[in-house]
Amino acid sequence: MTLSDDLKATVRAIQDYPKPGIVFRDITTLLGNAWAFRRAVDELVQPWAGSKIDKVAGMEARGFILGGAVAHQVSAGFVPIRKKGKLPHTTVRIAYSLEYGLDEMEMHADAIKPGERVILIDDLIATGGTAEGAVKLLRQIGADVVAACFIIDLPELGGAAKLRAMNVPVRTLMTFD
Ligand code: 5GP
Repeated sequence: MTLSDDLKATVRAIQDYPKPGIVFRDITTLLGNAWAFRRAVDELVQPWAGSKIDKVAGMEARGFILGGAVAHQVSAGFVPIRKKGKLPHTTVRIAYSLEYGLDEMEMHADAIKPGERVILIDDLIATGGTAEGAVKLLRQIGADVVAACFIIDLPELGGAAKLRAMNVPVRTLMTFD
């Protein structure tokens, strides 16, 4: 078994969640496995070991768990990107596309200084709508988005390709059809 197979085996498939016909990839089983959690965090940022990273931005909510651990790993600060209305100070906000419709995400306007080098983290990329919104938000405040890292890629949905077309290097650890 390769590393990817071993890690992949720790992700649980939930049939028909959140609605019939969808297979939800549940990473709580990966997070709950000490070996898998450490390995996933190490592998996510391995290409940037030794590079200067100022901030890790994590998307609500699973991106917070991974992003906090990654920030510690690369000695960077952590910045939460949240659904609208959750952050207490002045924010910047952007609309982004969901499978059905639009939502808005925000971050504190002073969380990242222009030119700071940022890695974006989430658990999974599907259509890329969420990550695309986050990259636009980060660039809006002048961040240098060094990479976007995800444990899981669903390549048929095209999200990773969408980010690469925006000149964002993308790192993923495993794929599912
Ligand atoms: P996208 O915007 O790329 O279509 O969807 C990605 C977002 O939806 C991520 O924030 C991710 O956490 C969530 N997501 C969508 N499907 C799944 C899934 O099967 N498993 C997990 N863990 N998250 C999912």
